[in-house]
Amino acid sequence: MRVAIYPGSFDPVTNGHLDIIERAAMLFDQVIVSVSNNASKVPLFTIAEKEEMLREILRPYNNVRVETFSGLTVNFAKEIGAQAIIRGLRAISDFENEFMMALTNKKLAPSVETVFLMTRAEYSFISSSSVKEVVLFGGCVTDLVPPFVEQRLKEKNIAINGGKEG
Ligand code: ADP
Repeated sequence: MRVAIYPGSFDPVTNGHLDIIERAAMLFDQVIVSVSNNASKVPLFTIAEKEEMLREILRPYNNVRVETFSGLTVNFAKEIGAQAIIRGLRAISDFENEFMMALTNKKLAPSVETVFLMTRAEYSFISSSSVKEVVLFGGCVTDLVPPFVEQRLKEKNIAINGGKEG
């Protein structure tokens, strides 16, 4: 059985992530969306909140599962028996970091492959950070995230700034 993990911070999950997950689910028997906190980014949502959003959105996909993890991605991949790590690529700016990460992971775990899926043109500009910024300043993110996530973003925004900008 071909198993892949799709690791990320998903803070929150966007339509760009969802597209990568859908396409990975067609290539692999099982895809495990693996949520963690990125040490270099300050999270808006807790791991439990991100996990809940992903579970809700991914319910229709019967070969996709959501797990949380901490520590090295390759260790988690090996622990659950995944042969591949899925990553999405947008602009050239993603490339350098992803390239270094893929080579580091290959060094740490030669049996685990990193598989890159190119973003779809219409999603290439979407990032979790830009979505958060748009919501913070009262903009509409309907085409950028699933409706359930949009709702959670609005609630979070109200909790944080009393909805002053939204
Ligand atoms: P991380 O903190 O690990 O980078 P992210 O949630 O930001 O976690 O991203 C997880 C993966 O999804 C990364 O490989 C990232 O490049 C990819 N990704 C994010 N947004 C998009 C998008 N719009 N299209 C394609 N891939 C994306």
